[in-house]
Amino acid sequence: MLDRLEQQPADALLALIKLHDADPREDKIDLGVGVYRTATGGTPVFACIKAAEAKLVAEQDTKAYLGPEGDMGFVHALMPHIFGGSDPALGGRIDGMQTPGGTGAVRLAVAMARKAGVTRILMGTPSWPNHAQILADTGVEMVGFNHAKADGTADMDALRDALRGAGSTDAVLLHGCCHNPTGVDYTNDQWDEIASLLAETGVLPIVDLAYQGLGDGMEEDAYGTRKVVAAVPEVLIAYSCDKNFGLYRDRVGAFYVLTANAEDTAKAMSNGYALARANWSMPPDHGASAVRLALTDPAMTKQWTDELDSMRARIRQVREKLAASSNAGAVNLAPLGTQQGMFAILPLSKEQILALREDHGVYMAGSGRINVAGLTMGNIDKFVSALAAVSG
Ligand code: PMP
Repeated sequence: MLDRLEQQPADALLALIKLHDADPREDKIDLGVGVYRTATGGTPVFACIKAAEAKLVAEQDTKAYLGPEGDMGFVHALMPHIFGGSDPALGGRIDGMQTPGGTGAVRLAVAMARKAGVTRILMGTPSWPNHAQILADTGVEMVGFNHAKADGTADMDALRDALRGAGSTDAVLLHGCCHNPTGVDYTNDQWDEIASLLAETGVLPIVDLAYQGLGDGMEEDAYGTRKVVAAVPEVLIAYSCDKNFGLYRDRVGAFYVLTANAEDTAKAMSNGYALARANWSMPPDHGASAVRLALTDPAMTKQWTDELDSMRARIRQVREKLAASSNAGAVNLAPLGTQQGMFAILPLSKEQILALREDHGVYMAGSGRINVAGLTMGNIDKFVSALAAVSG
């Protein structure tokens, strides 16, 4: 029976990692995989997480099961950072649960929306490729609209048209900040308009917040999410701690629901627990416990904030140097200076991307997406010259 299964393509980015690893050139540049890298190219465990893990090992006295909601101390500790204000739970209208990574949270958001009657999800494209896969796997129709204009800013006309043309069983998936793969975020003014449009049209927003703190700052990067939460009665939020705590393989995420009242929120959460139970039963504990410890100890929280600040500063420095280089051939790098987060899409052809890899040892996704954090002050010039060589 299993021979009826069709071969699936290998994940393109994972295949790229293998090619990069096998390349003997010492000055090769890896801009493919989406993890933060320091100025020396590493992705070290955060010092605050090391400290939290040491405490966890010393103090954890059981590994007995938690429920499908996971570590609620973790879920609650994140809420002031995401929602702000003196009552981040809005009197019980917001509640959440732990999920296996931001991916688990997106999965839960889409599955819950579907269970509540959503049949189509509007989504700016290009998007994180797994978004489309999750929608397809969950049986929700994806309705794409253009996310970014050629000038490197958000295509508000396309979003406006998509929302105005939507119906009562539609949801919209929005990146809260640091758009993956384009780096093109909405400005605060645009978020104000989006919040009003959502209130006007009644389209259910699903906000995917996977990079809070890697754009302009923890507070600044929450602007859109908070605006939307304040404007409409119902929102689903998928959150990842895998980038802003450097916990990637530990799979740390959370899913939050806002409804019109505490009773509906409790009912929605009971559906979240049931969906989780049927999918992964309960989330992995370790990373979320470490985040809980880091966020409930002021010294560790300060250490984390400092680490996040330095990551953000490095990403900004690389972006500014790229934006200032006028010698990248036909590739205009100027928009990267105002875009946000780890990613950018360069307008390169398949042939140019291949030539970058084969002739210059520069590895990037087939979409032209680069991980800005893969560059350092020491290799930007080489990268820019390679762009000039393939496009000039
Ligand atoms: N949403 C977006 C937009 C992402 O880029 C990612 C990670 N690549 C995720 C969600 C999921 O992150 P996680 O690794 O926590 O599952």
